[in-house]
Amino acid sequence: MKTVTILVPCYNEEQSLPMFYEATTAVTSQLTNYQWEFLFVNDGSKDKTLEMLMNLRRQHGVNVLNLSRNYGKENAMLAGFDYAKGDAMIIMDADLQDPPTIIPMMIERWEQGFEDVYAQRKDRGKESWLRKQLSLAYYRMLNRVADINVLPNVGDFRLLDRKCIDALKQLREANRYTKGMFCYIGFKKSCIEFDRGDRVAGHSNMSFRILLRLAIDGLMSYTTAPLRMAVWFGLIVALGAFVYMLFIFIRTLLFGDPVAGFPALMDVILFLGGVQLLCIGIVGQYLGQVYIETKHRPIYFVESYNE
Ligand code: UDP
Ligand code: MG
Repeated sequence: MKTVTILVPCYNEEQSLPMFYEATTAVTSQLTNYQWEFLFVNDGSKDKTLEMLMNLRRQHGVNVLNLSRNYGKENAMLAGFDYAKGDAMIIMDADLQDPPTIIPMMIERWEQGFEDVYAQRKDRGKESWLRKQLSLAYYRMLNRVADINVLPNVGDFRLLDRKCIDALKQLREANRYTKGMFCYIGFKKSCIEFDRGDRVAGHSNMSFRILLRLAIDGLMSYTTAPLRMAVWFGLIVALGAFVYMLFIFIRTLLFGDPVAGFPALMDVILFLGGVQLLCIGIVGQYLGQVYIETKHRPIYFVESYNE
């Protein structure tokens, strides 16, 4: 019998967990041809999440991986990849925004030979208009400058074959952008559309700040285009300055040179100063990433694992 792991990263999910487990097992218990492994990763929750998970373990035998602190969802997922034992794995959020009703369809596609069955949101739910537009613009930009194709409106909710899990386990960079990794590793993909609802309880842990950091990580880990852009920008400005210099030189020869143009001079100096700082900043960002990656630190530490 094939085993399918349900991987659930949890951070402060005490309110959602009981509903999540009930709704999900209602679906999985129908699929009797498979053995189901529930793997909950407690990502340093500050509420009673761990207690509840241990209760679930006593009552239903779910597996609980307890990390030593809060590492963020991306790292918690890698921990899950490392500990999952299934022939396939389905990644789900604990807040029921990823509807378990799609699981049978995912399994069906998997049996047809697809190795990465991802779920795509038809609509982004109650997110603000600005956030939707920003997100779409971001994906357009990322796809243009990076060499991989990251799909819009696709999250981490998906079924992965063992082959994909083993591939993902080998991508152990510290600045993780898992969404990009799914595309990077390739394998046979299939798409299922679904409606993403709102959280059943609690509140989102992804602040705008965290999302922005993730967006920048995503950009920087898949492309060095900003560095190229800095070079082009430098070239264009230098060329313009050279032409302007010729112009001034000739004008001075023809008409003489009364002292003038001080404001313009200040402006040019300030502008170039700004551009230089910006470009050094971009280089610095990449250097910072290199620094962090060369330390080769483990991505997470485990406090306890109960199966
Ligand atoms: N999560 C996590 N660690 C974190 C933040 C979130 O494991 O530091 C989990 C969270 O418990 C949930 C999933 O990641 O199962 C998605 O989080 P959330 O619902 O806050 O994000 P959103 O749905 O708003 O993108
Ligand atoms: Mg959510």
